[in-house]
Amino acid sequence: MRRILVTGGNKGIGLAIVEAILDQHEDTFVYLGSRDRARGQAAAAGLVKEHAAWTDRIAVVALDVASDRSVTEAAALIESLYGIVNNAGLNSPELAVTLQTNVLGIQRVCAALLPRLDATTGRIVNVTSAAGPIFVATCSPERQRFFLDAALPWPQLKTFVDDCLARAGDAAALREMGLAEAEPYGLSKACANTLTMILAREHAHLRINACTPGFIDTDLTRVYLASSGKSAAELGMKTPAEGAKAPLHMLFGALEGNGRFYGSDALRSPLDRYRSPGSAPFTGA
Ligand code: NAP
Repeated sequence: MRRILVTGGNKGIGLAIVEAILDQHEDTFVYLGSRDRARGQAAAAGLVKEHAAWTDRIAVVALDVASDRSVTEAAALIESLYGIVNNAGLNSPELAVTLQTNVLGIQRVCAALLPRLDATTGRIVNVTSAAGPIFVATCSPERQRFFLDAALPWPQLKTFVDDCLARAGDAAALREMGLAEAEPYGLSKACANTLTMILAREHAHLRINACTPGFIDTDLTRVYLASSGKSAAELGMKTPAEGAKAPLHMLFGALEGNGRFYGSDALRSPLDRYRSPGSAPFTGA
């Protein structure tokens, strides 16, 4: 069995990824990560109710990616893995919460679980967002080069994250760092895409890539529905099941290269500008 951990698997795109893995790949076992064990158990029970045959192919793991202790405890329960889907994420107005979850959460989970990944076939999928490239496009040329630097070491990205946190709320200080805006979500996803590149370089024997799921109707995007007064369809939102497609391709499909960022159409996108799904893939360095 190929064992796969999905963080934030209790709802939204994460739950749809869990369902798609179990549905499309019979040789898989999924660790459904949930920061709240009861919410995870309810989600798993819902899947098993619909598919009794999945009972022995799913286990709930309490996993808060923002907590060192929680990640260490979860890692102790997991023996070996084919894949990790770093899906857990949020869109908080608080920079510290957002970076802690969307960036440091990925690093924390990878640091704890990379040693458990199959050394020849192992894959990591980071569910990031097109908000990352859109954010990078607003940065100074120097900061853009930083985000795109294929040789950037992790300690430098971590120092940048720490500097952002130290300057949170100080727009002038953040502008001096080349950040025209300090919109937490976009900043976090830009960092997560760069982290993906770093992880892939440091673990070149594995397949480590990032993708956006697309614009998906979940609790995370419900705020747009409320503020626009429009329906999900009118806003062009897709279902969580459609949002699972690109992550599933990153997990099982044929991939060229490593450390890359893909669009919701599973074609490569640049790190510093938006590419709409269906348009030509990015072919640059
Ligand atoms: P969602 O429905 O709000 O689900 C987010 C999931 O992440 C939930 O399971 C949540 O757990 C979990 N989570 C948040 N913080 C966590 C933590 N510290 N530890 C563990 N789990 C945590 O949102 P979604 O739209 O499915 O988002 C999934 C991923 O897709 C996120 O990374 C998001 O940034 C990305 N994304 C979404 C869209 C979109 O249009 N929806 C677009 C681009 C990227 P709780 O239930 O406990 O809160």
